[in-house]
Amino acid sequence: MDEQRFDILIIGSGEAGKFLAWSMANSGRPTAVVERKLIGGACPNIACLPSKNIIHSAKVAELARRGAEFGVHTGPVTVEMAGVRTRKRKMVEGGSETARLQRT
Ligand SMILES: Cc1cc2nc3c(=O)[nH]c(=O)nc-3n(C[C@H](O)[C@H](O)[C@H](O)COP(=O)(O)OP(=O)(O)OC[C@H]3O[C@@H](n4cnc5c(N)ncnc54)[C@H](O)[C@@H]3O)c2cc1C
Repeated sequence: MDEQRFDILIIGSGEAGKFLAWSMANSGRPTAVVERKLIGGACPNIACLPSKNIIHSAKVAELARRGAEFGVHTGPVTVEMAGVRTRKRKMVEGGSETARLQRT
């Protein structure tokens, strides 16, 4: 394998590591990022984005329940948590796939 040399090594690809790496690389300094688990860190994988995805499902359920107030009539509204989780997992996996493609 060819040897590569870097000026800066950043440990972790979360919000902090990502922006630091972008800004160091943009300033012309060869920069490497080492990530042990989740590419992109907590935010897109287990924190910000997945939690907002689930909250969005709750908002949709709330709006559907209040439909009559807006002249929209529906049947009884139920929430199936397995479906909520599947939607959230698809979004996270889509993001991970994007990260994988950007990495290669
Ligand atoms: C449920 C939830 C919802 C949230 N919602 C929001 C929101 O809406 N808006 C917002 O701004 N913030 C939100 N946050 C906070 C946000 O997720 C964190 O502030 C952010 O992820 C912190 O980024 P970070 O880079 O400091 O750490 P992390 O994202 O944890 O990244 C650190 C990375 O370093 C890696 N690492 C650690 N040690 C090593 C090692 N020795 N070698 C290699 N890699 C290593 C880890 O694997 C990880 O990927 C939320 C948090 C939670 C829990």
